[in-house]
Amino acid sequence: MRLKGKIAIVTGAGQGIGEATALKFSGEGATVVACDLNEDAVNKTVAACKEAGADAIGFSLDVADRPAVDEMVAQTLSRYKRIDALVNNAGITRDARLEKMSSEQFDAVIDINLKGVFNVAQAVVGTMIAQGGGVILNASSVVGVYGNYGQTNYAAAKFGVIGFTKTWCRELGPKGIRVNAVAPGFIQTPMLSSVPDAVLDKMCEQVPLRRLGRPEEIANIYAFLASDEASYINGAVIEASGGLTL
Ligand code: NAD
Repeated sequence: MRLKGKIAIVTGAGQGIGEATALKFSGEGATVVACDLNEDAVNKTVAACKEAGADAIGFSLDVADRPAVDEMVAQTLSRYKRIDALVNNAGITRDARLEKMSSEQFDAVIDINLKGVFNVAQAVVGTMIAQGGGVILNASSVVGVYGNYGQTNYAAAKFGVIGFTKTWCRELGPKGIRVNAVAPGFIQTPMLSSVPDAVLDKMCEQVPLRRLGRPEEIANIYAFLASDEASYINGAVIEASGGLTL
C-alpha cells in the first residue's frame, strides 16, 4: 500500500485514465477526491473506490471554473485537513487542421487542458507549502513533445503543461513539493472513441509493442510518482507510449 494515508485529488476521474488512477490510488491506500465534469461518472468512480475499501469523495466540477475549484479544495481541507497529491488529468480534444480550427475549439482546449491545470495546481499549492510537501502530477502527451496533425490547440496545451511542470519543479522543489508530467502515447479510453478503427489500426502499427496502451498502465505511473518510491524524481516528463516515438 504505497499511498497509505495520503489524500489525493484526481481530476477527470469519471472515466478513462482518471478513473483508472482513482481506483489504483484507492487500491494503494489513498483517500481519493475525484473530480469530473460528468456527475454520474464521478459518482460511479467514488462508489468503485469505496467498494475497493477506500474512503473517497466526489465533486462534479469544471476545472476551468476557478471558484468551483477553490470550493472543492476548501471542502477537501475541511474534511481531510491536508492534500498530499494532485493528479491534474482532466482534458479534452477539439481537433482540426490549423486552417479550419475555430476560436471556440482553440479556447476550449486551452481553457481546460492548460488553464484548468494551472487552476487546480494554484488552488492546492498553498496547502502543500504549508504542509512542507506534496506531489503535483500533470497530464501531458507525446503530442506535447512531438506535435500532431490536427491538434494545434492540444499540442500547445500539452507543451505548456511541460513548461508548467519544469517551472513548478524549480519553484516548489525547495519547499518539498515534487512536480512531474506523464506523456502517454495512444491509450485506449473514451477519448479515442471517435477515432475510426482503420486509423487506430494504423496507430498500433507505429507502436513497437503493436497495441494501444491501457488506462491502468498510465495509472500505475501516477501511483509510483505519487509515492515515496519516486522521492528523487522531480521535473521529469515520463513518456509511456509503447515506444511510439522511437
Ligand atoms: P477521457 O476523455 O476518456 O476522460 C477525460 C475525463 O475528463 C472525462 O471523464 C471528462 O468528463 C473529464 N473532463 C473533461 N473536461 C473536464 C473539465 N473541464 N473539468 C473536469 N473534468 C473534465 O480522456 P483520457 O483518455 O482518460 O485522458 C485523460 C488525460 O490524459 C487527458 O488530459 C488527455 O489529454 C491525456 N492523454 C490521453 C491520451 C489517450 O490516448 N487517451 C494520450 C495522451 C494524453
